[in-house]
Amino acid sequence: MTIPLPVVIIGAGLTGLVCARALQDAGRPVVVLDKGRSPGGRLATRWLGQPSRRCDTGAQFFSVRDAAFAQLVQRWTPTVVPWCHGFPVIRPDAILPPDGHPRWHAPEGMSALAKHLAQGLDLRCERTVTGLAPDPAGWRLTVEPGDLVRAGTPATGPAETLLASAVILTAPVPQVPMWFARWDLDIPPALAEDLAKSHFDPCLCALLDWPTADRPVLPPPGAARVEDPASPVGWLSSQAAKGLHTPGDALVVHARGDWSALHQKEDDATVLAALIPAAKALVERLGGRWPGAPAEATVKRWKYSLAVRSPKPRCRILNLPATLVIAGDGYGEAGRVEGAVLSGLAAAQAV
Ligand SMILES: Cc1cc2nc3c(=O)[nH]c(=O)nc-3n(C[C@H](O)[C@H](O)[C@H](O)COP(=O)(O)OP(=O)(O)OC[C@H]3O[C@@H](n4cnc5c(N)ncnc54)[C@H](O)[C@@H]3O)c2cc1C
Repeated sequence: MTIPLPVVIIGAGLTGLVCARALQDAGRPVVVLDKGRSPGGRLATRWLGQPSRRCDTGAQFFSVRDAAFAQLVQRWTPTVVPWCHGFPVIRPDAILPPDGHPRWHAPEGMSALAKHLAQGLDLRCERTVTGLAPDPAGWRLTVEPGDLVRAGTPATGPAETLLASAVILTAPVPQVPMWFARWDLDIPPALAEDLAKSHFDPCLCALLDWPTADRPVLPPPGAARVEDPASPVGWLSSQAAKGLHTPGDALVVHARGDWSALHQKEDDATVLAALIPAAKALVERLGGRWPGAPAEATVKRWKYSLAVRSPKPRCRILNLPATLVIAGDGYGEAGRVEGAVLSGLAAAQAV
């Protein structure tokens, strides 16, 4: 009896994990590879010194509009729970009330959702796919141990070869040309068209930590969106309000996409010197309390955060001649967490 080759999914972010679960539930063999140390990608939760003091550095929450997504979310509880019905929006001349639409989050941190979805999957972390070539059986992947994309991170062992019946690539769409160039694959015209329609904003994220009771206080729900061209901030949220951080609190402050693009080469001190006073002004406008300076302030730099322009289909299916599907939140109309899930489901259907 011949053992069927697996579908190999490159990337254990939400797209890859949802796709893997759908394929495995349908009885297909699947292997998921990720260059990072743990699954999640942009669902990222960091400890600030101890496990009870966590903060989400990437996605903070998600909304649910599609019926198929709503069904999945019900199966994910209590790893995810409702948080609130929207956030105040701070504009130059007014503060708009929350829009009333439900928002969800993960009380153990957004990376807990990735860990939940990864259970029972053949997931191999710290594995960078450095080669992808057509093979009579489908695809031949070269996989190197370690995150070879981070500057100076060496491979930690010999490269392996993996055969796949089909491959699903879930790296953020703007990274796809880099991988195609490294893998010596030509970009087909349909994919080039998608790339021209895609754009992701970067995000400079300040993590401000107050480890004691002398901490900021924001009115419920503990977060706000900012639509003020005079402020560098696009979003701020209390991690204690999400149940992630005790004692004290950590504020996550996301700079606006255009501000992040303009300032991404600046050092941490310069970024913090702009974001901390701006966050203080916003907390005070909300009627909250700003204590003294945070005990610790760090910057997390996201090269790709939100897809602000995406091609319409939920994934791109290429037959080269074996099947290669490109998926992720950069495809489809929903974007974000919901878009990643819908793209992952579409990719599973495509193979
Ligand atoms: C700062 C920030 C704030 C956000 N806020 C929100 C929010 O509030 N609400 C919301 O809904 N969404 C938000 N998002 C967006 C949300 O996080 C993403 O839409 C979603 O997580 C995308 O999942 P993904 O699997 O498509 O991509 P990713 O999470 O980027 O996963 C791709 C994975 O591929 C891996 N990979 C790439 N290349 C290779 C390779 N060659 N070999 C092996 N592995 C590889 C990467 O390590 C990564 O884990 C935010 C994102 C950021 C960064």
